Amino acid sequence: MLDTSSLKRGSLLVLNCGSSSVKFTAFRLAKAGEVAPLFSGQLSGIGTDARLSARSADGDVIANASWADRDTGGVPVLLPDLLAWIETHLPSDLPLLAAGHRVVHGGRNLHRPAIITDDVLVELENLIPLAPLHQPQSVAAIKVLKESRPDLPQAACFDTAFHHTQPLVCSTYAIPRHLSEAGVHRYGFHGLSYEYIARYLGETLPELAKGRVVVAHLGNGSSLCGLKGGVSFDSSMGFSVLEGVPMGTRCGSLDPGVIIYLMRKFEMTADELERLLYHQSGLLGISGVSNDMRVLEESDDPHCKLAVEIFCLRVAKEAASLACSIGGLDGMVFTAGIGENGTGIRARICAHLDWLGIRLDPARNAAGTGLVSSDASLPVRVVPTNEELMIALHTVDLLASQSIG
Ligand code: ADP
Repeated sequence: MLDTSSLKRGSLLVLNCGSSSVKFTAFRLAKAGEVAPLFSGQLSGIGTDARLSARSADGDVIANASWADRDTGGVPVLLPDLLAWIETHLPSDLPLLAAGHRVVHGGRNLHRPAIITDDVLVELENLIPLAPLHQPQSVAAIKVLKESRPDLPQAACFDTAFHHTQPLVCSTYAIPRHLSEAGVHRYGFHGLSYEYIARYLGETLPELAKGRVVVAHLGNGSSLCGLKGGVSFDSSMGFSVLEGVPMGTRCGSLDPGVIIYLMRKFEMTADELERLLYHQSGLLGISGVSNDMRVLEESDDPHCKLAVEIFCLRVAKEAASLACSIGGLDGMVFTAGIGENGTGIRARICAHLDWLGIRLDPARNAAGTGLVSSDASLPVRVVPTNEELMIALHTVDLLASQSIG
C-alpha cells in the first residue's frame, strides 16, 4: 500500500456499467489508504424504463424513483444526471476526488489498474472486439464522464488483470502459435472478485492463503479460479466470458465442433451465434424456464431439475480440474449470488467432491457464512465478494501514486 497521507479529504465513486444498468458505490477516504462506503445503488432499465434506486451504507432507501422521463438517449444522457445526483448526496465536506470503473478487458498490456489517459482510452477501445458485449459500456461511460467532468481523474480496474500471473501452460490454447501471439489466449475474468477473496484470505487466514485454494464465483456469470499462494494460477473462463461452467444464459464450455455444425447446418451467423451462446443458453437454455437458480430449485419441472444437476456437476468438475492445475487442494471458497446464498447448490456441488475430502456440515452450510465444512473435511468457506471495494482501493492507490509522482 502506498503512502496516502498526501491525499485530500474526499470521496470516490465506483462505477460498474452494463448494457442496461449502471451500478455505483460512493466511498469516503478513510485513514491509511482505506475506504468506507457512503451509499450505493443502480440505475437500471436504461433504454426502456430507467429507474434509480439507492441505499445508504446502513441500508436506508435514499432513492427509488423512475427516471424514464430523463431517459432520452441512454447512458450518454443519464450518466451526467446520475453524477449530479450522486454529488448532491455526498457530504459537503467530502468532494468527489476520482471515479473508478470496472472494465472487463485489459488485454495483454493493461495488467494492473490504470489512470485513464488518452492512450489508455485508445487501448480500451482497441480491446472492444475481445469483449464486444461488455467493453463498449465501460468505454462509453468513461467518455461521457471525461466530457462532462474533464478534471475528474478516472481509473480503470480490469477483470482480466488478476490472472496475469497464470503460467503459459494454463493460459495457452492448443491452436497454432501465431493465433496465440495475436491474442487468442486465456485471459480469465472475475479477477476483481478473486483479488478481493485472495486479499481477504491473506488478512484473515494467512496459512490457507499461502496454499492451494479453489474459489467458485457463482452468480449470473460464473467462473472458478485456482489460487496458489494467493495468486491466480488457472481459471475456468479463458478467452471470453463464455468458457467454463454453464451460467444463467451463457453456455459454458462447448465442443467447438458444435459451432461449426450450427454454421453449416443452420447457416447461423456470428450475431446469431452470439445471441444463442450468450443470451439463450446456460440454465435458461436447458430449463426453457428461467436463468434464476432460485426459480429452478423450486420447480418440479424435469428440465429445471436437469439444469440444476448439470450446473452442480460442471462446477464440481471444474473445481477438480483446477485442483489438478494447482497440484492439490487445501481449501475451497464459494462467493457471489449463488455461491453466497445457494445453500442447496453448495451441498450438491460438494457432494460431487466428497472423494477429494470435501464434506459440508449441514448446520454450518445452512447458516451460510464463514466455515461451512465439517471438522473432518478440507475447509470450505463462504466469503461475500466485494469487487467495488477492490476498485475503490486501487483508485486510492493510483491517486496517491499520482500525487507523489
Ligand atoms: P451477477 O453475476 O449478475 O453479479 P449475482 O452474483 O448477483 O449476479 O448472482 C445473481 C444470481 O444469484 C441470481 O440469478 C440467482 O440465480 C442467484 N441467487 C441469489 N440468491 C439465491 C439463493 N438464495 N439460492 C440460489 N441462488 C440464488
